[in-house]
Amino acid sequence: MGNQPMVVLSEESQRTSGDDAQSMNITAGKAVGEAVRTTLGPKGMDKLLVGSTGEVVVTNDGVTILEEMEIDHPAANMIVEVAETQEEEVSDGTTSAVIVGGDLLKQAEDLLEQDVHATSLVQGYRQAAEEATQIVEDMSIDVGTDDTKILQQIAATAMTGKGAENAKDQLAELIVNAVSSVADDDGVDTDNIEIKKAAGGALEDSELVEGVLVDKEPVHQNMPYLVEDANVAVLDDSLEVKETEVDTEVNVTDPDQLQQFLDQEEEQLREMVDEIVGAGADVVFAQDGIDDMAQHYLAEEGILAVRRIKSSDAEKIAHSTGARIVSNVTDIGAADLGSAGTVSQREIGGSQRIHIEGVEDAQPVTLLLRGGTEHVVDEIERAIEDSLGVVRVTLENGKALPGGGAPETQIARELRQFADSVGGREQLAVEAFADALEVIPRTLAENGGLDPIDSLVELRSQHEAGKTTAGLNAYTGEVINMEAEGVVEPLRVKTQAIESATEAAVMLLRIDDVIAAGELKGGQVDGDDDDAGGPPAGGPGGGMGGGMGGMGGMGGAM
Ligand code: ADP
Ligand code: MG
Repeated sequence: MGNQPMVVLSEESQRTSGDDAQSMNITAGKAVGEAVRTTLGPKGMDKLLVGSTGEVVVTNDGVTILEEMEIDHPAANMIVEVAETQEEEVSDGTTSAVIVGGDLLKQAEDLLEQDVHATSLVQGYRQAAEEATQIVEDMSIDVGTDDTKILQQIAATAMTGKGAENAKDQLAELIVNAVSSVADDDGVDTDNIEIKKAAGGALEDSELVEGVLVDKEPVHQNMPYLVEDANVAVLDDSLEVKETEVDTEVNVTDPDQLQQFLDQEEEQLREMVDEIVGAGADVVFAQDGIDDMAQHYLAEEGILAVRRIKSSDAEKIAHSTGARIVSNVTDIGAADLGSAGTVSQREIGGSQRIHIEGVEDAQPVTLLLRGGTEHVVDEIERAIEDSLGVVRVTLENGKALPGGGAPETQIARELRQFADSVGGREQLAVEAFADALEVIPRTLAENGGLDPIDSLVELRSQHEAGKTTAGLNAYTGEVINMEAEGVVEPLRVKTQAIESATEAAVMLLRIDDVIAAGELKGGQVDGDDDDAGGPPAGGPGGGMGGGMGGMGGMGGAM
């Protein structure tokens, strides 16, 4: 065998190895953290994002920003996945998780330059993450189902800085009521909470309605407005004469023939209604249309019928009343029907709706969100989803933490002590981990227009004095007891963020070879983006520059 190098990669493939690969991945990961940095905390700024199809989103929500940006660098995507996991698991803390992930990479970069090997870094980070989880668990407080006040504070904290400020406490109350009413021994099924947006009114007019709401009216004015002890049929079918598959033309030569033809159609409709009556239904929800003649027959039978409901509504009704969705009305039987205490037509939130209440199987609630323009209501809806999620997570796990950078400062402090016991190069990694977590209080200070160094010094000294709940009031700059201030978050949000940020950083640090089958988008490292942790250039809103340069996605939007 000769010394010919063997080429195993195709010509189009791109390969980056060793230090270059590492530094490319670190740059990409850091850039993602930088991209969302200015949105963190109560005084975080929003971003206006224009999607590839031109739709506009105004948001402060970490995961929404990153998803809309359509980032396509593979390493950057691993950090985006941190946000997605965070969202899926605990609903909140997405921005924090990504910022911490970015900073873990940044601290790692410094150590790599000092010739600390990636393996030591990875080991140190893992040890530190485990220790950090223990530290926050030790400082957490217990929260039970009856601790309404703390639950409301948790709900309100998750909504802070997301456009719901005026009605925050009121919404927090609705949210906790909503979650409590769907909670049972098996936990909290937030699928039973529906958020419906109703135009008009003010945010403060938002209300919680027990039961399911359908934005429809009965199809016929002679139908009952109220049905008690209702037997509910849900159809994925129409009550119309079925069209034949092929177009048929009927040639009528005399009036009798036409009459006969129409009679036949009426007969078909009559039979459908008879099937429904025979099954014992007194309320019908159809996903498709209901013919005028069928409407008339249904009204005569005293049946309340609603047509063209959304399939999501159909599923909700079926789920809560115990009905089976029937796809062919001629097959309907008594066993397919669900039951509800009352089905009524009511004016709720300024328009006529059908309200299904008193259902047996599950107790769904609808949060009727009022007020604001579309973009505002959309952002508030995202805030409410975070908020519902954190209340659920708190009830499931039963533990909460103070916010405002208190846990991160405490973790950093205890980790630095722990580092001494670690020794070796891993010790440096543990210390770097501590520094990386302090990016949260530092960023809260920056975004609040405060001096990050002063804030950090004060935070550290209060924690030194044993005040583990001391955090930063982002409005006044004071370092105060966050629990007393009512800034409280679920423990799980913090532990999940630590876990997934560490995993992603570790995964990126272990890579020393990037092989791309095609062209790697945005793969170039510009090498000079080291801004040493200062506030992103240009202050609020300026965080998207620099690092994101090579990453595609936003195009002309910025
Ligand atoms: P994330 O996507 O990480 O949840 P947010 O923009 O919601 O990002 O900011 C969350 C951070 O803001 C947390 O560290 C939380 O403790 C902090 N925070 C929320 N409300 C306050 C407040 N009133 N004062 C200080 N910090 C707060
Ligand atoms: Mg949040």
